[in-house]
Amino acid sequence: MITLRDVSKSYPTATRAALENVTVHIGKGEFVFLIGPSGSGKSTFMRMLIKEEIPTGGEVHVADFRVDRLPGRRVPRLRQRVGCVFQDFRLLQQRTVAQNVAFALEVIGKRRQFIDRTVPEVLELVGLGGKADRLPSELSGGEQQRVAIARAFVNRPLVMLADEPTGNLDPETSYEIMLLLEHINRMGTTVLMATHDPLIVDGMQRRVVELYEGRLVRDQATGGYEVSR
Ligand code: ADP
Ligand code: ADP
Repeated sequence: MITLRDVSKSYPTATRAALENVTVHIGKGEFVFLIGPSGSGKSTFMRMLIKEEIPTGGEVHVADFRVDRLPGRRVPRLRQRVGCVFQDFRLLQQRTVAQNVAFALEVIGKRRQFIDRTVPEVLELVGLGGKADRLPSELSGGEQQRVAIARAFVNRPLVMLADEPTGNLDPETSYEIMLLLEHINRMGTTVLMATHDPLIVDGMQRRVVELYEGRLVRDQATGGYEVSR
């Protein structure tokens, strides 16, 4: 589902490479943590998968897309297949919960009838069935992240990228968000989550891919935040 082959990325202004000769394969339906200290290249890795950044070398494959060579006009099609969730939620503040989720379908031209049927289903799935008409500002952080996950998932993407999705949440709420991501994963979506949170990585015992100064330093089938042998 995701393959990086010998991928490097150097930003023009930087003194060292953000990623250096990274090779990794993530199969369909996997749940993978991407860890490493700040500046190790996690965001660059994720941004490359949706062609927000272009590698300086190597190949990037996502689903059937050869992302590093994808013409600009085909990028929207790629991004429809990849849902993204961020630490800061990125909701439209003037729109209700339902409108935020509906928007993801409107921009790809789905019919109103389809939208009206699908939005309540996905809100139910994330546990926000009763909050469709609230504004983001009326919700807790955990609820706002659920809206963001609903919006990312409503297209039924093949891949869900989550960049520090629990970074602004307390441990209890973080745990609930992880259960939701796990549920989405069990429905068949490949999940790649960048995180700094040892409690979460230790608690979930999933595949761990670790970066350090742009290099892949660990790829463990199941593990915790710290290396254990
Ligand atoms: P992480 O997500 O692990 O914190 P990043 O991918 O954001 O790591 O950053 C990796 C390296 O690339 C860092 O040294 C960072 O300073 C650098 N970097 C990231 N984005 C840019 C950019 N747009 N321009 C120049 N350097 C960048
Ligand atoms: P707009 O004025 O932007 O068209 P609407 O209020 O019509 O916004 O809502 C957009 C979409 O959001 C609707 O088509 C529907 O899918 C969804 N929606 C709005 N309110 C609800 C609700 N209470 N329950 C479920 N879905 C809703």
